[in-house]
This record gives sequence, C-alpha cells and structure tokens, in this order.
Amino acid sequence: MLSPSFLPMAYLAAAVLFVLSLGGLSTQESARRGNFYGILGMLLAVGATLLHDRVDSFGVIAACVIGGGAVGAVMAARVAMTSMPQLTAALHSFVGLAAVLVGLSSYLNPGKELEGAEHVIHDIEIYIDVIIGAITFTGSVIAWAKLDGRLSGKPLLLPGRHFINLLMVGSIIGICVPFVMASGPEGVVGLAGFHWLLITSVIASILGIHLVMAIGGADMPVVVSLLNSYSGWTAAAAGFMLSNDLLIVTGALVGSSGAILSMIMCRAMNRSIWNVVFGGFGTAGGSAPAKPAGDGKEEAGTFTEVDGEALADLVRDARSIVIVPGYGMAAAQAQRAVDTFTRKVRDMGTDVRFAIHPVAGRLPGHMNVLLAEAGVPYDIVLEMDEINDDFPRTDLVLVIGANDIVNPSAQTDPHSPIAGMPVLEAWNARTTVVFKRGRGVGYAGVANPLFFLDNTRMHFGDARASMESLCDAL
Ligand code: NDP
Repeated sequence: MLSPSFLPMAYLAAAVLFVLSLGGLSTQESARRGNFYGILGMLLAVGATLLHDRVDSFGVIAACVIGGGAVGAVMAARVAMTSMPQLTAALHSFVGLAAVLVGLSSYLNPGKELEGAEHVIHDIEIYIDVIIGAITFTGSVIAWAKLDGRLSGKPLLLPGRHFINLLMVGSIIGICVPFVMASGPEGVVGLAGFHWLLITSVIASILGIHLVMAIGGADMPVVVSLLNSYSGWTAAAAGFMLSNDLLIVTGALVGSSGAILSMIMCRAMNRSIWNVVFGGFGTAGGSAPAKPAGDGKEEAGTFTEVDGEALADLVRDARSIVIVPGYGMAAAQAQRAVDTFTRKVRDMGTDVRFAIHPVAGRLPGHMNVLLAEAGVPYDIVLEMDEINDDFPRTDLVLVIGANDIVNPSAQTDPHSPIAGMPVLEAWNARTTVVFKRGRGVGYAGVANPLFFLDNTRMHFGDARASMESLCDAL
C-alpha cells in the first residue's frame, strides 16, 4: 500500500521536470538536456499513475502503450525534417480526439457519485473539454492536410464567415444550458444530456474546420503553434474533468508556452493574433488573390542566370557575404555543403554571416537546428532584426532555397497575402544570387519580384548539388 502523499509528490516532481524541460528547450545549447528532463518527467508521471490504486486494467493499458508507442516510434524514425510541421499537427489532432473521447466516456461513467453543484461543475468541465478537444481535433486535421499539400494552402473565405463563426460559438454556449439541465436537479447521472454533448461536438468540429480552412498559407506557422496551445488547454480541461493535478499543470504549461510562441510569431510576421484565430478578420489576410505568379505555381518572367564559374568569381570578389537559408536548403539537405562553403570562404578572409527569418523553413527554429547540426558556429547566425540593416553594406547575398522570406512585395504590394510581413531585404546588397531548382513559387504562392531585379542572378539546380559544385570550383 503506497502512502497517500506518494502520488502528489511524484506529480510535483514531474511538473518541476517539465518546467526544467521547457527552460532547457529555450536555447540550442541546452535543448538536449531539456528533452532529457521532459522524458524523465513523463516516465515519472506515467509510472506513478500506474501505481494508483484505482488503476487495475493493466492488460488494456499495456496493449495501448505498446501499440501507441510502436506507431509513435515508427512515425518519429521515418519523418523527414521537412515534414515535422505535418507530424506536429497530426499529433495535436490525437490530443484533441483523445480529449473528446475521454470527455464522452467521463460523462457516461464519472467513476464516482456526484451531487448538486459538484455534478453541474463536472458537466461543465466535460462540456469545455469536449469543445476544445473537437476544435483542436478537426483544426489540426485540416492543418495537417494543408501542410502536407493534400489541401490547397489558399484560404477558404466563405461569405459571412464571421457571422457563421459567431452563430456556431453562440450555439455552443446556448446548448450548454439544456445539457447541464438534462441531468436533472437531483444530479442523476446517465444518458439524459448525451445527445446535447454529441451535437455540440459536431458543431465544435465544424468550427475547427472552418477556422483553419480560412487561414492562408502565409499564416500557417502561427496556426501550428496556436493548435499546439489549444492542445495544451484541452489537456488542462481534461485535468479538471478527471481531477488530475499533473494534467492541469502540464496542459497549462503547453497551452501558455504555445500561446507565447504564437504571439512571438505573430509579432515577427506583423500579424494580429486575432486575425489568425478568426481567419484573416478585418485584413487583406489573403482575401485578395495571390498576385500573378504565372499560374500560381510558377514564377513568370525572364531570369538572369549565372553559371558555376561566374558564381565562383562573384564569391572570390566578395569581401562580405550573407547567406539566407530557406525551406529549399532543408528539402535539399544542403546544410553540410553550406557549412563546408562557409569554412572555405572564411579561410579566404571573407566575412560570412547567416540571416535567419523567424518563419524560414517549415517550423520555428528550423534553420537554426539544421545549421547547428551541420556545425555552423552560433555567433555568425543572426536573427532578421540583427542583420536587416547590414544588407546595403554587403557585397554578395546567397539565397539558398528561400523565397517568401526575401519577397519585396511584402513591402510594396498592399494586396499581397504576405503584405506587412517583415522580410529579409536581400535586394539591398550589391549582388544577390538565388539558388533554386526552377520557377517554383514559395509556400505562400506569391510571385517574387526579387528574382527579376538587375542585381539578382539565378543559379538553378538542387541546392545541395549547387553548393557542392561551388565548393569544388573554389
Ligand atoms: P518557401 O517555401 O517560400 O520557398 C522555398 C523555395 O525553395 C521554393 O521557391 C523552391 O523553388 C525552392 N526549393 C525547394 N526545394 C529545393 C531544392 N531541393 N533545392 C533548391 N531550391 C529548392 O520557403 P521560405 O523558407 O522562404 O519561407 C517559408 C514559408 O513557409 C513561409 O511562407 C512561411 O510562412 C511558411 N511556413 C513556415 C513555417 C514555420 O514555422 N517556419 C510553418 C509553415 C509554413 P523551386 O521549386 O523552384 O526549387
């Protein structure tokens, strides 16, 4: 028989480990340690819960842990770094679905006698858990489909969409009354309000779909972190419903850190968080069609190309080089070749630095992780705000598989879906060379005038192969 204080103490220790984990994950140098604390905290939380005297169906739990663990291990081992956002969205959808299922089953079998106010509070906790869970579930499925290219990144802007959202939110709030009343004043637990719970789950699911469908490709980074935050609040709501302190603390940690990340990304992209939450409320936010990029999939216009030899000459002549990495560097796995290039030109006495846009690639910190993995020194990797003013004094900018983050139309075209998003002002350098395979547009599907400027040269080919040949030529 375990002491009654064992579980709260174990949960407290796990919660502390989760806080240390988040602290560790805030810098690259300590991220490994942060992960370690997180794993330790989770092992402690699950282990202590299994020792609880109300837990008895060990066979079912073992089957779920082994089955779920195997699926998770295979997914994690197979996922390419470029598909991480899709995986994250898929995992958020599992959290949402689990919350809905746990909410429904907790209504059918609360596991303890509830009376009067306690019963009403329990019903409301279930109701909130199911709503947030359903929104998170369907919203994350749509986000997964958009990020995976199974659905178009274009926003679905139905006429009167804000009214539709308002109607759904109003119905969800309204249905809570008959749902709570259905159980009767004497607090009889049973199926009486179950149909209301199902109806509200369907409405919340449609709301989740509608909210994320209305968000354009350029705002997807914020949506991923926002859904991360929703999944945390879902877990916290489930914690209240199940009277589980650790779930409340963990959910609140995930919910608030996701919300803070969403705010940071919104600020970096010059977006209001409410515009993203409500799908471009009150802004151009994608309501104007992407300006012509050929057919929306290809850049139209005449490029000025540069071949390998001429490119090597440009590099030899430059005293200062800024490298702007983007999604194409990740897709080509070019980071090691970029590191080799950096070492080579630094040995030649050239000043080389990296300019990192907050939404470069496909997940927050994507470029920093790849460059750190390749061994690029941290001190030459600078954030957008630290380096944007230096472009006019830069001889050569190498844009490696980036597009939206160096698109001047964010500043010049008020109708662009990326209008107002701060971008890296590569065009201010003496010469800019863009490494890409062909006429492919960026994630937001917007034409990029940078490619057609007098001081821009295009170097076509896979980024890794191009970088390796450049190193050979040097
Ligand atoms: P983009 O997606 O805008 O552009 C990438 C460019 O890389 C394309 O134009 C493509 O052109 C080129 N490319 C692709 N594969 C290769 C390859 N193998 N070799 C060379 N070039 C290649 O990337 P950015 O990093 O500039 O911008 C990120 C975008 O992703 C932003 O719109 C952002 O909002 C969005 N996003 C970011 C997330 C985040 O958290 N960071 C999450 C979700 C979305 P071509 O096909 O011609 O080669």
